[in-house]
Amino acid sequence: MALSPFSPITVQSPLLSRYEQGVVHAFGTRHGGMSGGDYSRFGGKGNDMLRNGEAQKAIAAAHFSREAPRFCMMQQVHGAEVLIVEDDKKARSGASSGDGLITATPGIALTVMTADCVPILLFEPHRKVIAALHAGWRGTAANIVAKAVALMQTRFGATPTALVAAIGPAIGACCYEVDEAVRSRLARYAGDAQAGCFTASLVPSRWMLDLKAINRLQLLEAGLIADNVDVSPLCTACEASLFFSHRRDKGKTGRMFNFIALKNTALTSASSAQSTPTQF
Ligand SMILES: [Zn+2]
Repeated sequence: MALSPFSPITVQSPLLSRYEQGVVHAFGTRHGGMSGGDYSRFGGKGNDMLRNGEAQKAIAAAHFSREAPRFCMMQQVHGAEVLIVEDDKKARSGASSGDGLITATPGIALTVMTADCVPILLFEPHRKVIAALHAGWRGTAANIVAKAVALMQTRFGATPTALVAAIGPAIGACCYEVDEAVRSRLARYAGDAQAGCFTASLVPSRWMLDLKAINRLQLLEAGLIADNVDVSPLCTACEASLFFSHRRDKGKTGRMFNFIALKNTALTSASSAQSTPTQF
């Protein structure tokens, strides 16, 4: 689906949007924050971070019909640690480090920050359990999606074939050139020409990497069915007016926030009227 002509503050997965009775989600853009300059408008430190945090909460709250979610963030470290969130107070502290969050508690917005890395949101509609993952090349090499799916299965009884996944905007193969060292860490996916995870770069010994494609393959390997995996075609490096890009902006950039939260159906079932979101 095409982007709308105005600058959206968030974009949604058409697939995950079908489950809006049970779950709310959004992939952020660079718009809607409070910072200026290179970080416009979701970046910076100190007071900017606090002000942006409030702006993010306001944006997320707008996706809920009545009650704002409680945010759960983590210190992302480009690993494959997946944390289970059960306690509301811990959810708000954001003190833990990891790159994946899982919860079955309604009203907690699992949040990951990205600026080229792949944000992945998962929902199992029968067991009502969700996950938010941050997958750069290191997290992808460590197969963070397999770890998350296994935890959702063993701890919450989720069925992989019932899982719905949305792979959000991230740097595309068009813009993500990597060296042989990175390719060797993801060598398992390098030989599959059909999947197109790696294509030759114009520069010798360099490769164009499609991280979204590898994460999709890993989800399928973990037991998800192809129709239940949505992949955003949007490239964060190409779409400069819409997204921050660590690679394009040479590190001097902000971060998009992406979140998923289970709705408290008892609270929200009466009011489903919402504005039409921008889908990718
Ligand atoms: Zn691109």
